[in-house]
Amino acid sequence: CKKMVFAGRPPRPTSRMVLAIGGRAPAYATSRAFSSSLPRNKERLVILGSGWGGYEVLRAIDKERWNVTMISPNNYFNFTPLLASCTVGTLEFRCATEPVRRYSPEVVAYQAWCDHIDFRQKRLQCMPATPLLSFETKSAPKADATTTQFPGTGTPFTLTYDKLVIAVGAYSQTFDVPGVKEHAHFLKDVKDARAIRTRILECFEQSNQPTISDLERRKLLNFCIVGGGPTGVEFAAELHDLLHTEMERHYPGLTRFAKISMYDVAPHILGTFDESLVKYAEKTFKRDGISIFTSHHVERVESGKLFVKEQGEVPFGLLVWSTGLAPNPLVQSASDVKKDLKTSSIITNDHLNVLKEDGTPYSDVWAIGDAAMIEDARLPATAQVANQKAKYLTKKLNRLVKDKDSPKPFEFHNQGSLAYVGNWKAIYDASGTGSNVMNKETGRLAWLLWRSAYFTMTLSVRNKILVPTYWFLNWIFGRDLTRF
Ligand code: FAD
Repeated sequence: CKKMVFAGRPPRPTSRMVLAIGGRAPAYATSRAFSSSLPRNKERLVILGSGWGGYEVLRAIDKERWNVTMISPNNYFNFTPLLASCTVGTLEFRCATEPVRRYSPEVVAYQAWCDHIDFRQKRLQCMPATPLLSFETKSAPKADATTTQFPGTGTPFTLTYDKLVIAVGAYSQTFDVPGVKEHAHFLKDVKDARAIRTRILECFEQSNQPTISDLERRKLLNFCIVGGGPTGVEFAAELHDLLHTEMERHYPGLTRFAKISMYDVAPHILGTFDESLVKYAEKTFKRDGISIFTSHHVERVESGKLFVKEQGEVPFGLLVWSTGLAPNPLVQSASDVKKDLKTSSIITNDHLNVLKEDGTPYSDVWAIGDAAMIEDARLPATAQVANQKAKYLTKKLNRLVKDKDSPKPFEFHNQGSLAYVGNWKAIYDASGTGSNVMNKETGRLAWLLWRSAYFTMTLSVRNKILVPTYWFLNWIFGRDLTRF
């Protein structure tokens, strides 16, 4: 590798490059004005991932004192709790994203994958997630939620860091069931939500063709969900709302063929929720006509059909697969770090420093979110945990840069769990929060809590205006059924 020091206009990358970023030299592709204005003594903080963990660090880090670089294949943050609403048009896709570029040019951002971390040399090997040159017409290969290889294109490059935050999240679990990656939809990203919405509308438009038989209509309008966790349940609930409002109005006669079926190997859905809330959710689903097949095993998937051990062949128009998390390949392939044997997550101490294989901490590397877990503390893989860890870490880094004491060890404050179950009803489980006031709540009140919680959590002023505006507009005029 050739070490490149860029002054003035950056040269075209020719081969694998080292980008010495920060005080020493500007990074490739940053503007000249910005490069020359970087203070010389800033330490280089690199954040991997722009999700719940990484984006919060990016947002709140003291950019005057740190020279920050973000590496993420997405140039946006996904507000995951609103993705299910985006799949059916209750909200528009913009409502569930925040741009990374909001912080440019203060922050250097590369739309790229990090595919190797050298902890000893403090180097990151990265692969662009975009086509290298603007005149290349070929678009970057698509990464799905389960891809185990980095689909980047162009010339790989290397970055160095002084401090590193690993917040690369996790991938979707398929349990190696054949055909899932090829024929199912996942719901992890706003692009997935867009693909699902397109497919739902496609199924209805196809079923509406005069040449289609009723048997084919029944197949096309069977919407299957595998995985009865909160993501699967909220998607089923949103889909139910769509079928019983706009679809009933705009495709009269077709919704009688439509069916929502949810499969799970466990005896109940929503395994992490309190038993009484699970019963409420199951009862609500049954009453709303959503079929729940618990203790059912999906053995393989082919184009348009599931093979369920207990039922045989089940035709579908759309299959959404949501059966938990698989390790991120960067984390899986990382060496020189301690990892959890079961989940392959990076193990950290309670100050969130990544541990070496011998159990001693790296003083300059931290890991947060779904990619990491604190030694001997099994916290859930949720946005709540990722966000609280990010807030703690940002505070720590902002103190560290001023040579002040680090805060106390990280402590998780459980704020309860919420899930939307359709028809303006939700469940709220606060049993782990230590609150005696409202332990569990169901129905309309829980739904109000659900909406106000996510409205409060939206980050930008733009989305604080957009989210309630779309809720209101869609309530008055209905959801948008345009298929592009
Ligand atoms: P993510 O938010 O997944 O972000 C990971 C980031 O890393 C992404 O930007 C990704 O592109 C990037 N990345 C991946 N690989 C690399 C690489 N090699 N190099 C660089 N960057 C990389 N939790 C809740 O608490 N409440 C909810 O209501 C809730 N609802 C959810 C709904 C859905 C549909 C989903 C999918 C999840 C939901 N969750 C919820 C869980 C929550 O979203 C995750 O726990 C949270 O996103 C984890 O944050 P993270 O920062 O670790 O990872």
